[in-house]
Amino acid sequence: MRGIKLEGHKDLTKDKKILIVDKPKYVYIPLICNNEEDIDIRIRKGSIVSVGSILAMDKKSNMPIHSSISGRVVDFVDKYCYTGNVVKTIQIENDFKDTKVKVTDLKEIDKYTKKEFLNILKECGIKGMGGANFPTYIKYDTKTRIKHLIINAVECEPYITADYRIVIDHAKEIIETIDAIMTINKIEHAYIAIKKNNKDIIKVLDNYLSIYPRIKIVLVPNIYPMGWERKLVNYILHKDYNMLPIELDAVVNNVSTIYAIYNALKYKMPITSRLVTIVGDGLKKGTNVDVKIGQDISEVLDILGHKKRDLLFISGGPMMGKTIEDENFVVTGNVNAILLIKNDDIDLSSTCLRCGKCTNICPAKLSPIMIKENINNVEELEKLNTLKCIECGLCSYICPAKILLREYVIRAKKNVRGE
Ligand code: SF4
Ligand code: SF4
Repeated sequence: MRGIKLEGHKDLTKDKKILIVDKPKYVYIPLICNNEEDIDIRIRKGSIVSVGSILAMDKKSNMPIHSSISGRVVDFVDKYCYTGNVVKTIQIENDFKDTKVKVTDLKEIDKYTKKEFLNILKECGIKGMGGANFPTYIKYDTKTRIKHLIINAVECEPYITADYRIVIDHAKEIIETIDAIMTINKIEHAYIAIKKNNKDIIKVLDNYLSIYPRIKIVLVPNIYPMGWERKLVNYILHKDYNMLPIELDAVVNNVSTIYAIYNALKYKMPITSRLVTIVGDGLKKGTNVDVKIGQDISEVLDILGHKKRDLLFISGGPMMGKTIEDENFVVTGNVNAILLIKNDDIDLSSTCLRCGKCTNICPAKLSPIMIKENINNVEELEKLNTLKCIECGLCSYICPAKILLREYVIRAKKNVRGE
């Protein structure tokens, strides 16, 4: 199996007390959609909003974008987001009353019909919290009978422990939600995928699984990128899919997404906050932080005692994360980590040694060095299957010449798409 054992550095944060930073003066709710025509803004400057108020509709996914605090809409402001791009945001001033939108017709979480379940996921704006930000209801809105539910709790990137904390702190709710999803969707098998060295999680889940025999733990090898959906599905079902896991009658959800589904089913509450692992140079301490969606991360860094300003900010893990140029960026539902790295740790590219390591390690079976060398030849890039790159970063990690191959392949993908 292609992959590599990485130093996890999980002990830096996994058992540290969670820092709750849920009273920001302002939040900046990002309108991350493809372009402005895709957004139908439902508020104006001066509008009064509650926690869970609909601010806008994403017309493409037909899903609402919610307020994470109660207060008053102040302005529309440009901010950096996890993609490293500047996006338009709705700035809301907190009234600190925490007024919530009133909800009706709540049921026990396993008593909803499939139609109601899909509507709740859509209306609560539930999207994948493991990175892809894909609308969750779409995965379940299928005519195919779903037979396998795979819960991805692998968290294979170094440093990140946000999913770990969610499982440790909310194991009961997570198991209940998996069981409810199985009942509502008539799913036969559920597998919670965990790295085999993650003994704490196994112990916590074992406390509940004796009364939920339909749900199994699957222990996976401690290698990167074991949490890659394609690799995980192959490991559990022993088959490959072409485009999506549903081809194998399977749905895959990240474990933090399962907890978001719990809040949606139990309280009809959208994602208004999330755990973010914040760790790296220049911090007095790294830990998991409970941050409001739309919160400006520079405020959180100040609370964590961050002093140095000449650092590189990475949204996500060191392998797949994206560099953010400015620390004034805002948290979205899929930001699971923020790493701070000294700029001088980044080495500039040098000459290829022709060792072949990047090609041997690539889980997508690509030749990153060939892609780099053909970066402006779109025809050749297509032959090299460039678009199959999952941006895992293993090629950059393994390269003895410290060539930033992943960045070249990302650029090559843009060239193929004509961006
Ligand atoms: S080419 Fe893409 S998929 Fe292959 S190792 Fe590099 S980043 Fe990962
Ligand atoms: S790993 Fe680095 S040095 Fe080795 S072939 Fe790939 S690009 Fe060249």
